Amino acid sequence: IGGTPPQEAMVDKIVQAFTITPEYLEQITQHFLSEMRKGLNQEDQTIAMIPSFVEGRLTGEEIGQFLALDLGGTNLRVVLVDLQGRGNFTTKSTKYKVSEHLKTGDVKELYNFIADCIDSFLTEHNLDYGTADIHLGYTFSFPVYQSKINRGLQKQWTKGFNCSGAIGKDPVILLQDALAKKHVPVLVSALVNDTVGTLLSNAYSKPETNAGIILGTGSNGAYIEKMSNIRKWTGGATSSDEMIINMEFGAFDNERVILPVTPWDNKLDRESINPHKQIFEKMISGMYLGEIARNVLLELVDRTLLFEGYSSKELNSQWGFETTYMSTIEADQGDSLKNTHRVLASSLNIPNVSEVDCRIVKRVCDLVGTRAARLAAAAIAGIVRQSSSVQDGCDIGIDGSLYEFYPSFEQRIEQGLTELFPDVPDINKKIRLGLAKDGSGVGAALCACVAKKMA
Ligand code: ADP
Repeated sequence: IGGTPPQEAMVDKIVQAFTITPEYLEQITQHFLSEMRKGLNQEDQTIAMIPSFVEGRLTGEEIGQFLALDLGGTNLRVVLVDLQGRGNFTTKSTKYKVSEHLKTGDVKELYNFIADCIDSFLTEHNLDYGTADIHLGYTFSFPVYQSKINRGLQKQWTKGFNCSGAIGKDPVILLQDALAKKHVPVLVSALVNDTVGTLLSNAYSKPETNAGIILGTGSNGAYIEKMSNIRKWTGGATSSDEMIINMEFGAFDNERVILPVTPWDNKLDRESINPHKQIFEKMISGMYLGEIARNVLLELVDRTLLFEGYSSKELNSQWGFETTYMSTIEADQGDSLKNTHRVLASSLNIPNVSEVDCRIVKRVCDLVGTRAARLAAAAIAGIVRQSSSVQDGCDIGIDGSLYEFYPSFEQRIEQGLTELFPDVPDINKKIRLGLAKDGSGVGAALCACVAKKMA
């Protein structure tokens, strides 16, 4: 860093706190795997391991026009998907902003808003199927106890949503009722977690897909499990010996027995709207990484080891340091760290910082970002070990801006996987990570298509 001895000492301490050695990463992976198995054996475990009711695999013959609705990310999206078979499709979509008021108010208001969005989408795209309802796959990326492909009860909210009147209710019924009241000709035929959708959309063109992972606002995963391993299953006979499991791994280690939780993570957690929940998600996903980095930077400021002890209103505000700033700063490779200076001056209102300051900020981003990617690698390794697909090779579809845009995120995951499978040469050719773009839209359409066939 080239700073003063107290600066160097504090940076060393931060490095220590965020570094996950290969041995430690292996321990985390083993714990993750044992928690997965607990979740398969019994209800109400930390990793919920929720059966999705999506059985078997896609054939590639899935064809037709479907709607998808995506709630749970930064925006609400309505998507028209035209499935053309064998991985081919076209989509048209519109995004709608969900206000803070709707995210935390009465859930009826939220669903009235959603029904209006779907209605205006149909008008905008001139969609009128006469007497037949259009089938819709509802991507609902919050924990749900699923009881059928189009039925489930919501367990909790995450990621900044906290509406009243939703927990214990069926999101499909809430949506279908709101649509019915407004006479919108749409049938909600599948309830899909975004991870399940990501898996399906990747599998549409890559049949060896075993898992879908989200690395966006939040983080979660789904994978294909053998029915015989789902010991807690009481749903009777199924048409296939495999089913997709929505893991809800964001809650992994809420007990904090293994993860390298730092004081800066604890501060984030305490100030969040869901303290003690989603601990793993809070260490690896887009909504939170900037906030962890902000907490570290503020401690440095408070110790007058950064910006000469000066802060700004922006840096002092919760969520004031966005994860996108980290991307810009991590991508800033020049000696002068021009873009880091620019982010600090223009986005955070901290002008005239020293080069040492910039290097410290960049180092903090590197540490927070690298830890996130390595923890994501532990989750992926756990899934691969459980589904014993490493020798055969498998595809893993990943969706989310963090994976898509954060510099080196993918390489850092791959580095973690290399350490976790020391005996497998070319592990990154065996575990093939790939961007499942628009996973939630196409995946929900595929799920609606499968459900329509089953019905
Ligand atoms: P979703 O909300 O559906 O998960 P995204 O996958 O776009 O949507 O994820 C949004 C999250 O990703 C936000 O938390 C945002 O901070 C983060 N993000 C968006 N763009 C970038 C970027 N270029 N670099 C790092 N993080 C990003």
